[in-house]
Amino acid sequence: MNYEAVIGLEVHVQLKTRTKMFCGCVNAYGGEPNSQTCPVCLGMPGVMPSPNEQAIRLTALSGLLLGCDIAPRCKFDRKNYFYADMPKNYQISQYDLPICLNGQMELMKECYPKDAQKDIQGVKQVKLTRIHLEEDVGKSFHFENCTGVDFDRAGAPLMEIVTQPDLNTPEEAFAFLSTLRLVLLYGKVSDADMEKGQMRCDVNVSIRPAGEKKLGTKIELKNLNSISGARRALAYEIERQKQALARGEKLVQETRRWDDDAGVTSSMRSKEMAHDYRYFPEPDLLPIDTTPWLDEVKRLVPELPMARKQRFMQQYQIADYNAGVLVADMDLADYFEKAAAHAPNPNAAANLIVNDLMRELGAASLPITQSPILPKDIAALTTVVESGKISSKQAKDVFAEMFKTGKNPDAIIAEKGLSQVSDAGAIEKFCDEVIAANPKIVTDIRSGNAKAVGALVGQVMKLSKGKANPAMVNEFLKKKLS
Ligand code: ADP
Ligand code: ZN
Ligand code: MG
Repeated sequence: MNYEAVIGLEVHVQLKTRTKMFCGCVNAYGGEPNSQTCPVCLGMPGVMPSPNEQAIRLTALSGLLLGCDIAPRCKFDRKNYFYADMPKNYQISQYDLPICLNGQMELMKECYPKDAQKDIQGVKQVKLTRIHLEEDVGKSFHFENCTGVDFDRAGAPLMEIVTQPDLNTPEEAFAFLSTLRLVLLYGKVSDADMEKGQMRCDVNVSIRPAGEKKLGTKIELKNLNSISGARRALAYEIERQKQALARGEKLVQETRRWDDDAGVTSSMRSKEMAHDYRYFPEPDLLPIDTTPWLDEVKRLVPELPMARKQRFMQQYQIADYNAGVLVADMDLADYFEKAAAHAPNPNAAANLIVNDLMRELGAASLPITQSPILPKDIAALTTVVESGKISSKQAKDVFAEMFKTGKNPDAIIAEKGLSQVSDAGAIEKFCDEVIAANPKIVTDIRSGNAKAVGALVGQVMKLSKGKANPAMVNEFLKKKLS
């Protein structure tokens, strides 16, 4: 039997706000445990929540980035359950009136795993169901004989993005998470680093016979700590479900845990143990009217990576591949635009950045924001190559020196006396000298062995200490020997 996988994601994203969702504590998880808490986020009896407007606006902004409808009016609800890291015994969330409904996102080609990019067929749109806003819970740390809870994360603003079951492969799920992360970074909504827990993802996956319309039994996977981990977990789980069905087993709806080290999923709880959250409207908070400020938020929508890529290709005439690499890192794209503004040939600047600069930064483990070479000096280097002041071979050496010292290309060219000789008189003199000194090769060329010119070009380059403009040398020799 030929099966197809169906995947839907529930992605939690921590918002980049100054303070927490319902209190004035600083939203800074990861420092000294329990240093950012107050009676509200510790869930003391009788305290009153006061909503963080910035978090509500950032959620609406995320909805705008993802093509959602923004509800003119929404509200908060209580989701009741007990867990040690949540001492109020309920979480303030949104149930039936979330801030954002519907929406869609196109998967970017460059956001698929590198090894899967050659297999992409067409452009995939993934529909979203909703985005709602809630508060994060504390984080438990299990020690040998006890468990500790850090409440600095409790009450942090957390947005949940729910997709429709529109994805079909682990690679598409990978691409969804990578594209989503990029879009959220462009919107400055979150740093969305899965390894830091700023973006967390539950994956729902089922399989069904290819062509079947009805959805199969849904299995939810938890504990995915990286985008590549989500891909691995899905690949494992899809195969496990196929084999179970092949053995004639019946799948049951359940939640399974992914163990990244062992590379397997194992059952956590089945549907019979599902929670009843007894949602009801949060009585301590008024409904939210988004209309008074929605236009202000609309003005914060930036040019998104996909649009930026198209613009780069049109405005700067750079290749699809280069444009894709550049926009996949917002800082890199900004760097390129600064260089392109001064470069006579932006495509040369793009090549230099995508190939040479990225290679050196990678080797030195430096982010683009700490590049020793300034964008304007990338432009300057392309300028001296374009004008013929130095050869492209010399440019490699100048680039290496720029990366090492941070000096600008003109300073390095002057220091090393590198500038290319493009003075016709000087080059002609070199050529005459070499022709006079090599009568045998000259006879050879004149009797039809055109390739032998290369040997003379080499001699001229040597004579000029590598500084003669090779194109001009070629031209002179051909003219003189034809
Ligand atoms: P629940 O009510 O159990 O939370 P939802 O209908 O809200 O389920 O869906 C939760 C997530 O699971 C969504 O991302 C949705 O796309 C996905 N999903 C729902 N049914 C399936 C299925 N049969 N196979 C795969 N994913 C599914
Ligand atoms: Zn607090
Ligand atoms: Mg649900």
